[in-house]
Amino acid sequence: MSEIFAGVTTSGETRLIGEVAQGAACGCFCRACGSPLVAKQGDVLSWHFAHVAKQENPECYVGALNLIRRLAIEDILGNAVLNLPECHVTIRRRSGLGHSDAKLVWQPEFERWVDFSMDAPKGATVARIRLVDGGVAELSVEATESSISALPVAVGDTGMIACRFPIPAPQHLRTFEAAMAQIRATAAWQWIRVPAGAAQVRHAIEQLDAQDRLEAARIDKLAHQRAVEAGSRWAGIAKRNRAGEAFLRPRQAPGIPPTSGGEEGAGDLLPGRSPGCTLTFYKLPGEKLWVRYMRADKRYVVIPFPGHPWVGWENDLPPAVGRYDPELQAYVLDDVFRGMEALAELSSTVKSGRSLAEFISDPCQD
Ligand SMILES: [Zn+2]
Repeated sequence: MSEIFAGVTTSGETRLIGEVAQGAACGCFCRACGSPLVAKQGDVLSWHFAHVAKQENPECYVGALNLIRRLAIEDILGNAVLNLPECHVTIRRRSGLGHSDAKLVWQPEFERWVDFSMDAPKGATVARIRLVDGGVAELSVEATESSISALPVAVGDTGMIACRFPIPAPQHLRTFEAAMAQIRATAAWQWIRVPAGAAQVRHAIEQLDAQDRLEAARIDKLAHQRAVEAGSRWAGIAKRNRAGEAFLRPRQAPGIPPTSGGEEGAGDLLPGRSPGCTLTFYKLPGEKLWVRYMRADKRYVVIPFPGHPWVGWENDLPPAVGRYDPELQAYVLDDVFRGMEALAELSSTVKSGRSLAEFISDPCQD
């Protein structure tokens, strides 16, 4: 479909093909090239305008499309109150345990038009709308030849609504009323950006924040419980070890001063560690000692005790614990609880603390 269905009169008014006299008497000109038009209103072909001199260009059809878009914009802006589409948005928050989603649906209320520009080009803002809750939304209006599918929704300071409508078929493009009825019936209204200031969005973000804090507290509590549970086992092993060398005493001490400080002064022994986070130590059969900690990016990782890796450690832990990440050179616990449980089950000893030094010195001190 690429026939011209609209022209302009000498006084600049838009006329559709069914609204003019037949033939050269139509008195219309091409909006794009300015050439005089003749109206073809036959029985066989769909009604259309033709250029008198037949020098029609693709731009001429685009000009007609712009006219219909302009009429749609006028029609929309002519509403004193606009029925806005519902807001549907999912706010996703990433966290140590994956992510949490808040699905929101609400009905924003139109208050008034703030400003508008009838001749805004395709893709530009046609008008700005003041919402009852104080937010502002921009409106774009597009005529489209492709089918209309839902667009992704984001959250932004200023909202954005798209009104998209399919170009009506030729039989609906004969009069303004028929064209508008068709456009109103087929237009798809959708929020592209929902205003971040909307109460629903602010409330959901507050709830996600609270959930984050709760989750962090739960992980801390679980780590603490593990440490307490392991306490008695730990004391027993420590007692047995006291006569000889504690298994945690480094056999050689590359990079770890045996008596002083700890990891703070010894370089990046726990890469990416979140400052001050709890360390948890797991001793597995074969004198394999692992350290679990939280990274600054909120991911939990497990590595061999710094300075004491063994050949093949990258393949030592089962998938239930986590997956080995070659970039981090650590196991990443995608599911923190499941990973901790699986590690604890494999371990003869579990102990928590704040620094590596606590596990180099006499382990039964606390
Ligand atoms: Zn033309």
